[in-house]
Amino acid sequence: MEYEPVIGLEVHAELQTNTKMFCSCEVVDSTHATPNVAVCPVCSGMPGVLPVVNQRAVEFALRVAIALECEISPSSIFARKNYFYPDLPKGYQISQYEQPLARNGRLPIITSDGRRDIRVRRVHIEEDTGKLTHVHQEGEAYSLVDLNRAGVPLLEIVSEPDLHSIEEVRNYVYGLRNILRYLQVNSGDMEKGLIRIEPNISLRPIGTDELGTRVEIKNLNSFRALERSLIYETERQRDTLNAGKQVIQETVGWDEGSQVTVPQRVKEAEDDYRYFPEPDLPPLVVTADWIDAIKEGMPELPHTKNQRFQDEYGLNAYDAGVLVSERASAYFFEEVMHLAPDIHPKQVTNWISGEFFSLLNQAGTRIEDSLISPKDFVQLIQLLNRGEINNLTAKAVLSEMFETGNSPEIIVREKGLAQISDTGILEDYVKRVLDENPTEVQAYLGGKGTLFHWFLGQVMDMAEGKANPQLVRQELKRQLTAHSGSNND
Ligand code: ADP
Ligand code: ZN
Ligand code: MG
Repeated sequence: MEYEPVIGLEVHAELQTNTKMFCSCEVVDSTHATPNVAVCPVCSGMPGVLPVVNQRAVEFALRVAIALECEISPSSIFARKNYFYPDLPKGYQISQYEQPLARNGRLPIITSDGRRDIRVRRVHIEEDTGKLTHVHQEGEAYSLVDLNRAGVPLLEIVSEPDLHSIEEVRNYVYGLRNILRYLQVNSGDMEKGLIRIEPNISLRPIGTDELGTRVEIKNLNSFRALERSLIYETERQRDTLNAGKQVIQETVGWDEGSQVTVPQRVKEAEDDYRYFPEPDLPPLVVTADWIDAIKEGMPELPHTKNQRFQDEYGLNAYDAGVLVSERASAYFFEEVMHLAPDIHPKQVTNWISGEFFSLLNQAGTRIEDSLISPKDFVQLIQLLNRGEINNLTAKAVLSEMFETGNSPEIIVREKGLAQISDTGILEDYVKRVLDENPTEVQAYLGGKGTLFHWFLGQVMDMAEGKANPQLVRQELKRQLTAHSGSNND
Protein backbone atom coordinates (compact mmCIF):
# COMPACT_ATOMS: atom_id res chain seq x y z
CA MET A 1 0.00 0.00 0.00
CA GLU A 2 1.22 3.53 -0.82
CA TYR A 3 0.84 6.06 2.00
CA GLU A 4 1.06 9.84 2.14
CA PRO A 5 1.98 11.87 5.22
CA VAL A 6 -0.65 14.22 6.68
CA ILE A 7 0.88 16.92 8.81
CA GLY A 8 -0.53 19.77 10.92
CA LEU A 9 1.67 22.15 12.89
CA GLU A 10 1.31 23.80 16.26
CA VAL A 11 3.78 26.68 16.28
CA HIS A 12 4.63 28.53 19.47
CA ALA A 13 6.14 31.95 18.95
CA GLU A 14 7.19 34.29 21.72
CA LEU A 15 5.83 37.79 21.40
CA GLN A 16 8.83 40.00 22.03
CA THR A 17 7.18 42.71 24.05
CA ASN A 18 9.04 44.68 26.71
CA THR A 19 7.15 43.12 29.59
CA LYS A 20 5.48 39.82 30.35
CA MET A 21 1.92 38.76 29.51
CA PHE A 22 0.26 39.31 32.90
CA CYS A 23 2.78 41.26 34.99
CA SER A 24 5.26 44.09 34.50
CA CYS A 25 8.41 41.94 34.68
CA GLU A 26 10.84 42.66 31.90
CA VAL A 27 11.15 40.11 29.07
CA VAL A 28 14.85 39.26 29.07
CA ASP A 29 16.89 37.17 26.63
CA SER A 30 16.62 33.87 28.42
CA THR A 31 19.76 32.51 26.73
CA HIS A 32 21.97 35.24 28.25
CA ALA A 33 20.35 36.78 31.31
CA THR A 34 21.20 35.72 34.84
CA PRO A 35 18.55 33.21 35.94
CA ASN A 36 15.59 34.47 37.94
CA VAL A 37 16.25 38.21 37.59
CA ALA A 38 12.89 38.93 35.97
CA VAL A 39 10.44 37.35 38.39
CA CYS A 40 7.67 38.80 40.57
CA PRO A 41 4.87 37.42 42.74
CA VAL A 42 2.52 37.26 39.72
CA CYS A 43 4.72 35.19 37.41
CA SER A 44 6.09 33.05 40.22
CA GLY A 45 2.58 32.09 41.25
CA MET A 46 2.30 33.58 44.72
CA PRO A 47 -1.16 33.37 46.26
CA GLY A 48 -3.39 36.42 46.24
CA VAL A 49 -1.96 38.13 43.16
CA LEU A 50 -3.92 39.18 40.09
CA PRO A 51 -2.91 39.02 36.43
CA VAL A 52 -3.28 42.08 34.19
CA VAL A 53 -3.33 41.68 30.40
CA ASN A 54 -0.44 43.23 28.46
CA GLN A 55 -2.17 45.27 25.77
CA ARG A 56 0.92 45.40 23.60
CA ALA A 57 1.06 41.59 23.52
CA VAL A 58 -2.55 41.48 22.35
CA GLU A 59 -1.71 44.00 19.66
CA PHE A 60 1.23 41.85 18.51
CA ALA A 61 -1.06 38.80 18.43
CA LEU A 62 -3.63 40.75 16.41
CA ARG A 63 -1.01 41.76 13.87
CA VAL A 64 -0.29 38.09 13.28
CA ALA A 65 -3.98 37.15 13.15
CA ILE A 66 -4.62 39.91 10.61
CA ALA A 67 -1.61 38.88 8.51
CA LEU A 68 -2.94 35.31 8.47
CA GLU A 69 -6.35 36.62 7.36
CA CYS A 70 -8.11 35.13 10.39
CA GLU A 71 -11.58 35.84 11.69
CA ILE A 72 -10.93 37.74 14.90
CA SER A 73 -13.18 37.08 17.89
CA PRO A 74 -14.76 40.28 19.21
CA SER A 75 -14.49 38.67 22.60
CA SER A 76 -12.17 35.85 23.57
CA ILE A 77 -11.72 34.04 26.85
CA PHE A 78 -8.64 33.19 28.87
CA ALA A 79 -8.66 29.73 30.41
CA ARG A 80 -6.62 27.85 32.95
CA LYS A 81 -4.84 24.77 31.66
CA ASN A 82 -3.95 22.84 34.79
CA TYR A 83 -0.96 20.58 35.09
CA PHE A 84 1.87 20.16 37.50
CA TYR A 85 5.45 20.68 36.45
CA PRO A 86 8.41 22.41 38.11
CA ASP A 87 8.69 25.04 35.36
CA LEU A 88 5.08 26.09 35.94
CA PRO A 89 4.99 27.74 39.36
CA LYS A 90 1.25 28.51 39.35
CA GLY A 91 0.33 24.90 38.64
CA TYR A 92 -1.60 26.10 35.62
CA GLN A 93 -0.91 27.98 32.43
CA ILE A 94 -3.16 30.82 31.35
CA SER A 95 -4.12 30.06 27.77
CA GLN A 96 -7.11 30.35 25.51
CA TYR A 97 -9.21 27.33 24.81
CA GLU A 98 -12.81 27.34 23.67
CA GLN A 99 -12.84 30.91 22.46
CA PRO A 100 -9.43 31.75 20.99
CA LEU A 101 -8.43 35.18 19.76
CA ALA A 102 -8.70 34.23 16.10
CA ARG A 103 -9.71 31.38 13.79
CA ASN A 104 -9.93 30.26 10.18
CA GLY A 105 -6.97 31.96 8.61
CA ARG A 106 -4.58 30.95 5.88
CA LEU A 107 -0.95 31.11 4.95
CA PRO A 108 0.07 30.82 1.31
CA ILE A 109 3.05 28.63 0.54
CA ILE A 110 4.95 28.46 -2.73
CA THR A 111 6.31 25.06 -3.63
CA SER A 112 7.50 23.48 -6.84
CA ASP A 113 3.80 22.83 -7.63
CA GLY A 114 2.89 26.51 -7.32
CA ARG A 115 0.97 28.49 -4.70
CA ARG A 116 -1.32 26.82 -2.20
CA ASP A 117 -3.09 28.13 0.89
CA ILE A 118 -2.58 26.23 4.13
CA ARG A 119 -5.54 26.71 6.45
CA VAL A 120 -4.86 28.10 9.89
CA ARG A 121 -7.25 26.61 12.44
CA ARG A 122 -6.66 28.99 15.33
CA VAL A 123 -4.37 31.61 16.81
CA HIS A 124 -4.40 32.08 20.55
CA ILE A 125 -2.50 33.83 23.31
CA GLU A 126 -0.92 32.04 26.24
CA GLU A 127 2.05 32.41 28.56
CA ASP A 128 5.38 30.65 28.39
CA THR A 129 6.73 28.38 31.10
CA GLY A 130 10.05 28.67 32.93
CA LYS A 131 13.12 26.77 31.86
CA LEU A 132 14.59 23.66 33.43
CA THR A 133 18.22 22.66 33.16
CA HIS A 134 18.91 19.06 34.07
CA VAL A 135 22.37 18.59 35.49
CA HIS A 136 24.18 15.26 35.76
CA GLN A 137 27.54 15.73 37.28
CA GLU A 138 29.90 13.83 39.57
CA GLY A 139 27.33 11.27 40.53
CA GLU A 140 24.76 13.94 41.30
CA ALA A 141 21.62 14.64 39.35
CA TYR A 142 19.47 17.71 39.89
CA SER A 143 17.47 20.27 37.95
CA LEU A 144 17.80 24.05 37.93
CA VAL A 145 14.72 26.21 37.53
CA ASP A 146 14.88 29.61 35.79
CA LEU A 147 11.64 31.58 35.85
CA ASN A 148 12.77 34.47 33.62
CA ARG A 149 10.71 33.00 30.81
CA ALA A 150 7.67 32.13 32.95
CA GLY A 151 4.83 34.39 31.86
CA VAL A 152 6.42 35.67 28.65
CA PRO A 153 3.65 36.16 26.08
CA LEU A 154 3.39 33.27 23.68
CA LEU A 155 1.33 32.93 20.55
CA GLU A 156 0.14 29.54 19.40
CA ILE A 157 -0.65 29.19 15.73
CA VAL A 158 -2.32 25.90 14.80
CA SER A 159 -2.68 24.78 11.20
CA GLU A 160 -5.16 22.35 9.74
CA PRO A 161 -3.61 19.02 8.67
CA ASP A 162 -3.00 20.39 5.16
CA LEU A 163 0.69 19.68 4.73
CA HIS A 164 1.84 16.59 2.85
CA SER A 165 5.58 16.80 2.40
CA ILE A 166 8.74 18.03 4.07
CA GLU A 167 9.00 20.70 1.38
CA GLU A 168 5.55 22.03 2.28
CA VAL A 169 6.32 21.96 5.99
CA ARG A 170 9.54 23.84 5.42
CA ASN A 171 7.79 26.45 3.29
CA TYR A 172 5.03 26.92 5.83
CA VAL A 173 7.46 27.44 8.70
CA TYR A 174 9.72 29.74 6.68
CA GLY A 175 6.69 31.71 5.57
CA LEU A 176 5.29 32.02 9.06
CA ARG A 177 8.65 32.93 10.57
CA ASN A 178 9.11 35.55 7.90
CA ILE A 179 5.70 37.08 8.67
CA LEU A 180 6.53 37.21 12.38
CA ARG A 181 9.76 39.00 11.56
CA TYR A 182 8.11 41.43 9.14
CA LEU A 183 5.56 42.27 11.82
CA GLN A 184 8.41 42.78 14.30
CA VAL A 185 6.77 40.61 16.91
CA ASN A 186 9.47 37.91 16.93
CA SER A 187 13.07 38.00 15.71
CA GLY A 188 12.82 34.46 14.31
CA ASP A 189 15.81 33.14 16.27
CA MET A 190 14.79 29.51 16.49
CA GLU A 191 18.02 28.43 18.15
CA LYS A 192 17.10 30.67 21.09
CA GLY A 193 13.78 28.87 21.35
CA LEU A 194 11.79 31.94 20.30
CA ILE A 195 9.88 29.74 17.87
CA ARG A 196 9.10 26.12 18.77
CA ILE A 197 7.25 23.70 16.58
CA GLU A 198 5.13 20.68 17.38
CA PRO A 199 4.25 18.76 14.25
CA ASN A 200 1.41 16.24 14.27
CA ILE A 201 1.77 13.53 11.70
CA SER A 202 -0.27 10.59 10.48
CA LEU A 203 -0.28 8.48 7.35
CA ARG A 204 -3.13 7.55 5.07
CA PRO A 205 -3.41 5.53 1.89
CA ILE A 206 -2.86 7.82 -1.09
CA GLY A 207 -6.17 8.77 -2.66
CA THR A 208 -8.19 8.59 0.57
CA ASP A 209 -9.46 11.51 2.67
CA GLU A 210 -9.82 10.00 6.09
CA LEU A 211 -7.32 11.00 8.73
CA GLY A 212 -5.14 8.34 10.29
CA THR A 213 -4.02 8.16 13.91
CA ARG A 214 -1.57 10.95 14.64
CA VAL A 215 1.58 11.28 16.66
CA GLU A 216 2.61 14.64 18.08
CA ILE A 217 6.31 15.48 18.18
CA LYS A 218 7.12 17.87 21.04
CA ASN A 219 9.04 21.13 21.01
CA LEU A 220 11.39 21.28 18.04
CA ASN A 221 13.44 24.40 17.56
CA SER A 222 15.35 23.87 14.34
CA PHE A 223 14.47 23.15 10.73
CA ARG A 224 16.86 20.24 10.87
CA ALA A 225 15.14 18.56 13.80
CA LEU A 226 11.76 19.26 12.22
CA GLU A 227 12.72 17.60 8.94
CA ARG A 228 14.64 14.69 10.43
CA SER A 229 11.93 13.84 12.95
CA LEU A 230 9.19 13.96 10.30
CA ILE A 231 11.16 11.71 7.97
CA TYR A 232 11.77 9.31 10.83
CA GLU A 233 8.10 9.26 11.91
CA THR A 234 6.88 8.78 8.33
CA GLU A 235 9.05 5.70 8.01
CA ARG A 236 8.23 4.35 11.45
CA GLN A 237 4.48 4.69 10.87
CA ARG A 238 4.75 3.18 7.39
CA ASP A 239 6.59 0.16 8.80
CA THR A 240 4.01 -0.18 11.56
CA LEU A 241 1.10 -0.09 9.10
CA ASN A 242 2.81 -2.42 6.63
CA ALA A 243 3.36 -4.92 9.44
CA GLY A 244 -0.42 -4.94 9.92
CA LYS A 245 -0.19 -3.09 13.26
CA GLN A 246 -1.82 0.13 14.38
CA VAL A 247 -0.19 3.44 15.12
CA ILE A 248 -0.84 4.51 18.71
CA GLN A 249 -1.88 8.10 19.32
CA GLU A 250 0.88 9.49 21.50
CA THR A 251 3.23 12.34 22.19
CA VAL A 252 6.86 11.70 21.33
CA GLY A 253 10.12 13.58 21.75
CA TRP A 254 12.96 13.88 19.26
CA ASP A 255 16.24 12.44 20.45
CA GLU A 256 19.00 14.45 18.74
CA GLY A 257 21.71 12.00 19.76
CA SER A 258 20.24 8.86 18.27
CA GLN A 259 18.00 10.60 15.69
CA VAL A 260 14.86 8.72 16.70
CA THR A 261 11.53 9.69 18.22
CA VAL A 262 10.90 8.41 21.75
CA PRO A 263 7.45 7.96 23.27
CA GLN A 264 6.78 10.45 26.09
CA ARG A 265 3.19 9.84 26.99
CA VAL A 266 0.01 8.52 25.56
CA LYS A 267 -2.05 11.53 24.53
CA GLU A 268 -3.75 13.08 27.54
CA ALA A 269 -7.47 13.56 27.25
CA GLU A 270 -8.49 17.20 27.34
CA ASP A 271 -10.19 16.83 30.69
CA ASP A 272 -6.86 15.89 32.24
CA TYR A 273 -6.05 19.57 31.92
CA ARG A 274 -9.32 20.52 33.63
CA TYR A 275 -9.64 23.60 31.45
CA PHE A 276 -11.90 26.27 32.91
CA PRO A 277 -12.31 30.01 32.30
CA GLU A 278 -9.69 32.09 34.15
CA PRO A 279 -11.69 33.67 36.98
CA ASP A 280 -9.22 36.54 37.44
CA LEU A 281 -9.47 37.88 33.91
CA PRO A 282 -12.44 39.36 32.06
CA PRO A 283 -13.15 38.42 28.44
CA LEU A 284 -10.65 39.97 26.05
CA VAL A 285 -12.59 42.45 23.94
CA VAL A 286 -11.23 43.52 20.57
CA THR A 287 -13.08 46.38 18.89
CA ALA A 288 -13.33 46.93 15.15
CA ASP A 289 -11.64 50.32 15.61
CA TRP A 290 -8.67 48.70 17.24
CA ILE A 291 -8.35 46.19 14.42
CA ASP A 292 -8.55 49.01 11.87
CA ALA A 293 -5.85 50.99 13.66
CA ILE A 294 -3.56 47.96 13.68
CA LYS A 295 -4.24 47.24 10.01
CA GLU A 296 -3.26 50.80 9.23
CA GLY A 297 0.17 50.31 10.74
CA MET A 298 0.87 46.93 9.13
CA PRO A 299 3.80 46.62 6.72
CA GLU A 300 3.42 45.05 3.30
CA LEU A 301 3.69 41.30 3.86
CA PRO A 302 6.39 39.15 2.27
CA HIS A 303 4.16 37.29 -0.22
CA THR A 304 2.53 40.52 -1.39
CA LYS A 305 5.91 42.19 -1.69
CA ASN A 306 7.28 39.21 -3.58
CA GLN A 307 4.54 39.47 -6.22
CA ARG A 308 4.91 43.25 -6.46
CA PHE A 309 8.69 42.96 -6.99
CA GLN A 310 8.01 40.60 -9.88
CA ASP A 311 5.37 42.88 -11.41
CA GLU A 312 7.03 46.22 -10.79
CA TYR A 313 10.69 45.42 -11.37
CA GLY A 314 10.43 42.44 -13.69
CA LEU A 315 12.34 40.20 -11.27
CA ASN A 316 11.89 36.46 -11.45
CA ALA A 317 10.28 34.63 -8.54
CA TYR A 318 13.61 33.38 -7.26
CA ASP A 319 15.25 36.81 -7.11
CA ALA A 320 12.15 38.39 -5.59
CA GLY A 321 12.10 35.60 -3.00
CA VAL A 322 15.71 36.21 -2.03
CA LEU A 323 15.13 39.95 -1.59
CA VAL A 324 11.94 39.63 0.46
CA SER A 325 13.39 36.93 2.69
CA GLU A 326 14.35 39.82 4.96
CA ARG A 327 12.30 42.93 5.41
CA ALA A 328 15.53 44.92 5.59
CA SER A 329 16.95 43.59 2.33
CA ALA A 330 13.69 44.26 0.50
CA TYR A 331 13.77 47.77 1.91
CA PHE A 332 17.41 48.24 0.88
CA PHE A 333 16.64 47.10 -2.66
CA GLU A 334 13.73 49.51 -3.00
CA GLU A 335 15.74 52.39 -1.58
CA VAL A 336 18.41 51.77 -4.19
CA MET A 337 15.83 51.59 -6.98
CA HIS A 338 14.19 54.72 -5.69
CA LEU A 339 17.47 56.69 -5.63
CA ALA A 340 18.53 55.48 -9.07
CA PRO A 341 15.58 54.27 -11.14
CA ASP A 342 17.77 54.06 -14.24
CA ILE A 343 19.89 51.21 -12.86
CA HIS A 344 18.65 47.80 -13.99
CA PRO A 345 16.81 46.01 -11.13
CA LYS A 346 18.53 42.76 -12.04
CA GLN A 347 21.95 44.36 -11.62
CA VAL A 348 20.96 45.70 -8.20
CA THR A 349 19.57 42.30 -7.20
CA ASN A 350 22.76 40.55 -8.28
CA TRP A 351 24.96 42.89 -6.29
CA ILE A 352 22.78 42.62 -3.20
CA SER A 353 22.23 38.88 -3.22
CA GLY A 354 25.76 38.12 -4.41
CA GLU A 355 28.60 40.24 -3.03
CA PHE A 356 26.69 42.13 -0.35
CA PHE A 357 25.01 39.05 1.15
CA SER A 358 28.28 37.14 1.18
CA LEU A 359 29.99 39.97 3.10
CA LEU A 360 27.08 40.00 5.55
CA ASN A 361 27.19 36.22 5.96
CA GLN A 362 30.93 36.12 6.52
CA ALA A 363 30.69 38.82 9.18
CA GLY A 364 27.44 37.51 10.67
CA THR A 365 25.96 41.00 10.34
CA ARG A 366 22.37 41.87 9.55
CA ILE A 367 21.77 44.15 6.59
CA GLU A 368 20.13 46.78 8.81
CA ASP A 369 23.27 46.93 10.98
CA SER A 370 25.66 47.18 8.06
CA LEU A 371 27.66 50.38 7.43
CA ILE A 372 26.71 50.41 3.75
CA SER A 373 23.92 52.84 2.92
CA PRO A 374 21.67 52.53 -0.12
CA LYS A 375 23.06 55.87 -1.29
CA ASP A 376 26.67 54.60 -1.28
CA PHE A 377 25.53 51.39 -2.90
CA VAL A 378 24.05 53.42 -5.76
CA GLN A 379 27.27 55.40 -6.06
CA LEU A 380 29.25 52.17 -6.36
CA ILE A 381 27.09 50.80 -9.16
CA GLN A 382 27.24 54.11 -10.96
CA LEU A 383 31.05 54.19 -10.78
CA LEU A 384 31.01 50.71 -12.25
CA ASN A 385 28.49 51.50 -14.97
CA ARG A 386 30.34 54.67 -16.00
CA GLY A 387 33.48 52.58 -16.42
CA GLU A 388 35.36 54.45 -13.72
CA ILE A 389 36.12 51.21 -11.94
CA ASN A 390 35.99 47.66 -13.21
CA ASN A 391 34.04 44.74 -11.79
CA LEU A 392 36.96 43.39 -9.81
CA THR A 393 37.65 46.76 -8.23
CA ALA A 394 33.96 47.25 -7.48
CA LYS A 395 34.00 44.09 -5.38
CA ALA A 396 37.08 45.27 -3.49
CA VAL A 397 35.49 48.69 -2.94
CA LEU A 398 32.28 47.14 -1.63
CA SER A 399 34.25 45.11 0.86
CA GLU A 400 36.09 48.29 1.94
CA MET A 401 32.74 50.10 2.27
CA PHE A 402 31.53 47.25 4.42
CA GLU A 403 34.58 47.51 6.70
CA THR A 404 34.84 51.28 7.02
CA GLY A 405 31.51 52.78 6.00
CA ASN A 406 33.38 55.14 3.66
CA SER A 407 31.76 56.21 0.42
CA PRO A 408 32.97 54.45 -2.73
CA GLU A 409 34.21 57.69 -4.30
CA ILE A 410 36.45 58.38 -1.33
CA ILE A 411 37.76 54.82 -1.33
CA VAL A 412 38.49 54.91 -5.07
CA ARG A 413 40.24 58.28 -4.78
CA GLU A 414 42.26 57.50 -1.65
CA LYS A 415 43.36 54.07 -2.78
CA GLY A 416 43.99 55.07 -6.38
CA LEU A 417 41.60 52.41 -7.65
CA ALA A 418 40.24 54.30 -10.60
CA GLN A 419 40.17 52.17 -13.68
CA ILE A 420 42.88 52.73 -16.21
CA SER A 421 41.16 53.60 -19.47
CA ASP A 422 43.99 55.64 -20.87
CA THR A 423 44.72 53.86 -24.14
CA GLY A 424 48.30 55.13 -24.19
CA ILE A 425 49.07 53.42 -20.90
CA LEU A 426 47.24 50.25 -21.86
CA GLU A 427 49.02 50.09 -25.20
CA ASP A 428 52.30 50.21 -23.34
CA TYR A 429 51.29 47.46 -20.87
CA VAL A 430 50.21 45.17 -23.67
CA LYS A 431 53.37 45.80 -25.62
CA ARG A 432 55.52 45.02 -22.59
CA VAL A 433 53.66 41.79 -21.86
CA LEU A 434 54.00 40.59 -25.45
CA ASP A 435 57.66 41.60 -25.64
CA GLU A 436 58.47 39.81 -22.38
CA ASN A 437 56.76 36.58 -23.47
CA PRO A 438 57.80 35.78 -27.04
CA THR A 439 57.39 32.01 -26.57
CA GLU A 440 53.76 32.40 -25.57
CA VAL A 441 53.17 34.79 -28.46
CA GLN A 442 54.53 32.20 -30.87
CA ALA A 443 52.37 29.48 -29.29
CA TYR A 444 49.30 31.71 -29.53
CA LEU A 445 49.97 32.48 -33.14
CA GLY A 446 50.54 28.77 -33.72
CA GLY A 447 46.92 28.15 -32.68
CA LYS A 448 46.89 27.99 -28.86
CA GLY A 449 43.98 30.42 -28.54
CA THR A 450 43.49 29.86 -24.81
CA LEU A 451 46.64 31.89 -24.17
CA PHE A 452 44.62 35.01 -24.86
CA HIS A 453 43.26 34.86 -21.31
CA TRP A 454 46.70 34.38 -19.92
CA PHE A 455 47.89 37.55 -21.70
CA LEU A 456 44.88 39.38 -20.35
CA GLY A 457 45.77 38.21 -16.85
CA GLN A 458 49.37 39.38 -17.24
CA VAL A 459 48.25 42.85 -18.32
CA MET A 460 45.76 43.03 -15.43
CA ASP A 461 48.53 42.06 -13.01
CA MET A 462 50.74 44.74 -14.40
CA ALA A 463 47.92 47.25 -13.92
CA GLU A 464 47.27 45.94 -10.39
CA GLY A 465 43.78 44.88 -11.42
CA LYS A 466 42.71 48.36 -12.42
CA ALA A 467 42.80 48.14 -16.21
CA ASN A 468 39.59 48.42 -18.15
CA PRO A 469 39.28 44.80 -19.33
CA GLN A 470 37.31 45.76 -22.43
CA LEU A 471 40.01 48.06 -23.66
CA VAL A 472 42.79 45.61 -22.78
CA ARG A 473 41.04 42.95 -24.80
CA GLN A 474 40.78 45.22 -27.81
CA GLU A 475 44.38 46.29 -27.55
CA LEU A 476 45.61 42.71 -27.14
CA LYS A 477 43.71 41.65 -30.24
CA ARG A 478 45.13 44.56 -32.16
CA GLN A 479 48.74 43.95 -31.20
CA LEU A 480 48.51 40.16 -31.62
CA THR A 481 47.05 40.62 -35.07
CA ALA A 482 49.91 42.95 -35.88
CA HIS A 483 52.35 40.24 -34.69
CA SER A 484 50.68 37.63 -36.84
CA GLY A 485 50.90 40.00 -39.81
CA SER A 486 54.62 40.53 -39.32
CA ASN A 487 55.19 36.79 -38.87
CA ASN A 488 53.30 35.36 -41.77
CA ASP A 489 53.88 37.91 -44.45
P1 ADP B 1 -4.18 19.06 20.43
O1 ADP B 1 -2.87 18.50 19.99
O2 ADP B 1 -4.00 20.16 21.42
O3 ADP B 1 -5.14 18.04 20.82
P2 ADP B 1 -5.65 19.62 17.92
O4 ADP B 1 -6.59 18.50 17.99
O5 ADP B 1 -6.20 20.96 17.67
O6 ADP B 1 -4.77 19.86 19.21
O7 ADP B 1 -4.62 19.29 16.78
C1 ADP B 1 -3.35 19.73 16.81
C2 ADP B 1 -2.71 19.65 15.45
O8 ADP B 1 -2.79 18.34 14.95
C3 ADP B 1 -3.33 20.52 14.40
O9 ADP B 1 -2.28 21.21 13.75
C4 ADP B 1 -4.01 19.57 13.45
O10 ADP B 1 -3.94 20.03 12.14
C5 ADP B 1 -3.17 18.35 13.60
N1 ADP B 1 -3.90 17.10 13.35
C6 ADP B 1 -5.10 16.74 13.84
N2 ADP B 1 -5.43 15.51 13.41
C7 ADP B 1 -4.39 15.07 12.66
C8 ADP B 1 -4.13 13.86 11.96
N3 ADP B 1 -4.97 12.83 11.97
N4 ADP B 1 -2.95 13.78 11.29
C9 ADP B 1 -2.08 14.78 11.29
N5 ADP B 1 -2.28 15.93 11.94
C10 ADP B 1 -3.42 16.08 12.62
ZN1 ZN C 1 6.40 38.89 36.87
MG1 MG D 1 -1.20 19.34 20.49
